[in-house]
Amino acid sequence: MAGSNLPAVKTMWNRLCFYLSFVWRFIILRRQEPLIYGLAVTDRCNLECRGCHVSNTGRPDMTWARLVSTLQNAWRRGFRELYFSGGEPMLWHDGKRSLESAVIEARRIGFFHVHVYTNGMFGLDTSADLVWVSMDGLPGTFERRRGNHFAQVERAVREGRHPKVAVIYVIDSHTAAGIEPFLRWVQETKFPVMGVMFYFHTPYYGRDELFLTAEQRAPLIDQLLDCIRAGLPVINSRAGLLALKSGH
Ligand code: SF4
Repeated sequence: MAGSNLPAVKTMWNRLCFYLSFVWRFIILRRQEPLIYGLAVTDRCNLECRGCHVSNTGRPDMTWARLVSTLQNAWRRGFRELYFSGGEPMLWHDGKRSLESAVIEARRIGFFHVHVYTNGMFGLDTSADLVWVSMDGLPGTFERRRGNHFAQVERAVREGRHPKVAVIYVIDSHTAAGIEPFLRWVQETKFPVMGVMFYFHTPYYGRDELFLTAEQRAPLIDQLLDCIRAGLPVINSRAGLLALKSGH
């Protein structure tokens, strides 16, 4: 039995060694080296979220050959953690190759973990290590950014039974009021996710009507800190939120 665990132990040991030396170079030698690589495999998307300017621009999907060479190149440059995004990455394919083929290939190349960012509308059928699903609030709030799809996304998460799912919640002028009710709902309904990661809306071209100023963000960050204290499932770290609030 012990012998059959050897490859897993070796993998863990190699990763530990990588991270120990990475942390040494980063903290002691102050060298900034690449670690996390993000790849938007397609910009096609089935949704039209408010404030989104990256979907359906007409840019062609990556081909399989380009995708593989891009991953190999990233790995050679030192990246070891990977996420696929889009558009909606679940829509990507090249012939018989699908996003799942890309996840498997990324692991074969040597990436330690592969994450997928999705809007959840096509289910969570992926072997990715972690799936990030976008949900910006409960019904009444959710559709103000993403359209009337809350029930479908909720069903995908509950029925998908993926072992590791987390929610991405984008705070903007329309979704800011929904933070705490959403967190309470996640907790009370035992929504099967690791927690909720909050981002603030970042406008692509100048400030738009969704943008929140630093003065408007500050009380929302305080609210998130209170939520952490109250044991609600916020993934953001306290330190990260305080740094965000400081503006540094
Ligand atoms: S799901 Fe993502 S890519 Fe698609 S429209 Fe919404 S924000 Fe844009």
